[in-house]
Formats: sequence, C-alpha cells, structure tokens
Amino acid sequence: MKVRDKLPIRRPEPTKSPNEGNWTAHKPDLREDFHSHCGYCGSYDGYRHTWYEVDHFIPKSLLEGKISDVEYLNLVYSCKFCNNKKLAKWPTEDITIPNVNDKGFVDPCDKEYESHLYRTNDGGIMWSTDLGKWMWEKAFKFDERNYALKLLWELNQRRKLIDVFIIALNKREEGSNEYNEIKTEAEKLSFEYYKYDKALIEHYNSI
Ligand SMILES: [Zn+2]
Repeated sequence: MKVRDKLPIRRPEPTKSPNEGNWTAHKPDLREDFHSHCGYCGSYDGYRHTWYEVDHFIPKSLLEGKISDVEYLNLVYSCKFCNNKKLAKWPTEDITIPNVNDKGFVDPCDKEYESHLYRTNDGGIMWSTDLGKWMWEKAFKFDERNYALKLLWELNQRRKLIDVFIIALNKREEGSNEYNEIKTEAEKLSFEYYKYDKALIEHYNSI
C-alpha cells in the first residue's frame, strides 16, 4: 500500500495569504494541498493527540537567501513527529541536490516518494530502496515510531468508514431494517475507533 492515499500537490503559489512574510501563514493552503495528511508519514491531522506544522523541505538554515524562507514550493505540511525527527538534516549540504548515494530526501509531492517507502498491511511504514531506508531510519525514525504509525492508520481506516456509514444512514429511514443494520456496523467501528484512540493516548503518555 501507499504511505499516503493521495499524492499531495502544491498549488503553484499560496492563495489564502499570498503576500504573508511568515511561512506559518501558508498552513491552510498546505493543509488543503496535502489533503489533511502529513506529507511524510501520511497520518491524518484530525486527532487530538497529533498536531501539524509547516516544515521546510530544504532546511531553513541552508537557504541563506538563495531561496526565500516563505517559498511555497519548499514547504511541507508535516506532523510534529516527522518535523521534529527531520530537523535540519540535509546530507548533500547542497540545496539543489536533495539526495545522493542513497542518502537524503525526496520531495513528498514528487510521486517518486512512494517508490522508496510503502505501507505494510497493518499500517506500519517500510522501505523499498536504500534511499527509502535512509529516510526511514535516519530522517523520520519510522522504525521507532511504527507502533504509533500503525495505531494512527487503524484509527484513520475506521474514521473513513464511519464517515461513509453516516452518509448512508442519512439516506435511510430511521428505524428501518437497513438503517438498523448500518447503525450496528457503525457502532462496532466506533468501538474499535475508541480502542485504538485509547491505546494511542496511553502510548503517547508513556514516551
Ligand atoms: Zn508525519
């Protein structure tokens, strides 16, 4: 499976606050362009135990005025875990070269990103190339974060299904057999959702 369901695509220029001098002002544009998911790990941004930040793909400290620190094409909608692990890593030390000799990064808006990493059947993240392994192990520490990534993925699967069931319920007559069947399934999913949500809170409290 893919790490992200949908490839994020940046708009060419920020539109909500086009002349804003602070990159954080572009978070609403990024949120839309990244479909409300972290560009790097694909986690959904709607849970109370996660929060989302604006990452500079090429680290701010290397820009030195060659690229503006508000350049939209260099910004990534990122969960705080990916952002905090990535920090200012940029092994090539050349802002024009994202990776060399299987070390470095691939822009999460480039479809090549998915060829280096993939999602396992239980929602974890694994690498498929040596460059993917570098990002997995050195940059984002997906190895250490695998338990939380799996729980976030399980939660998101249920969230999406519950949303579909709510739409289906709204189209049925309340109290009808069909309505009750859908409601029973939705309640099972809600119970599972709660279970994963609780496990995630306990996990985050323990680290
Ligand atoms: Zn992330």
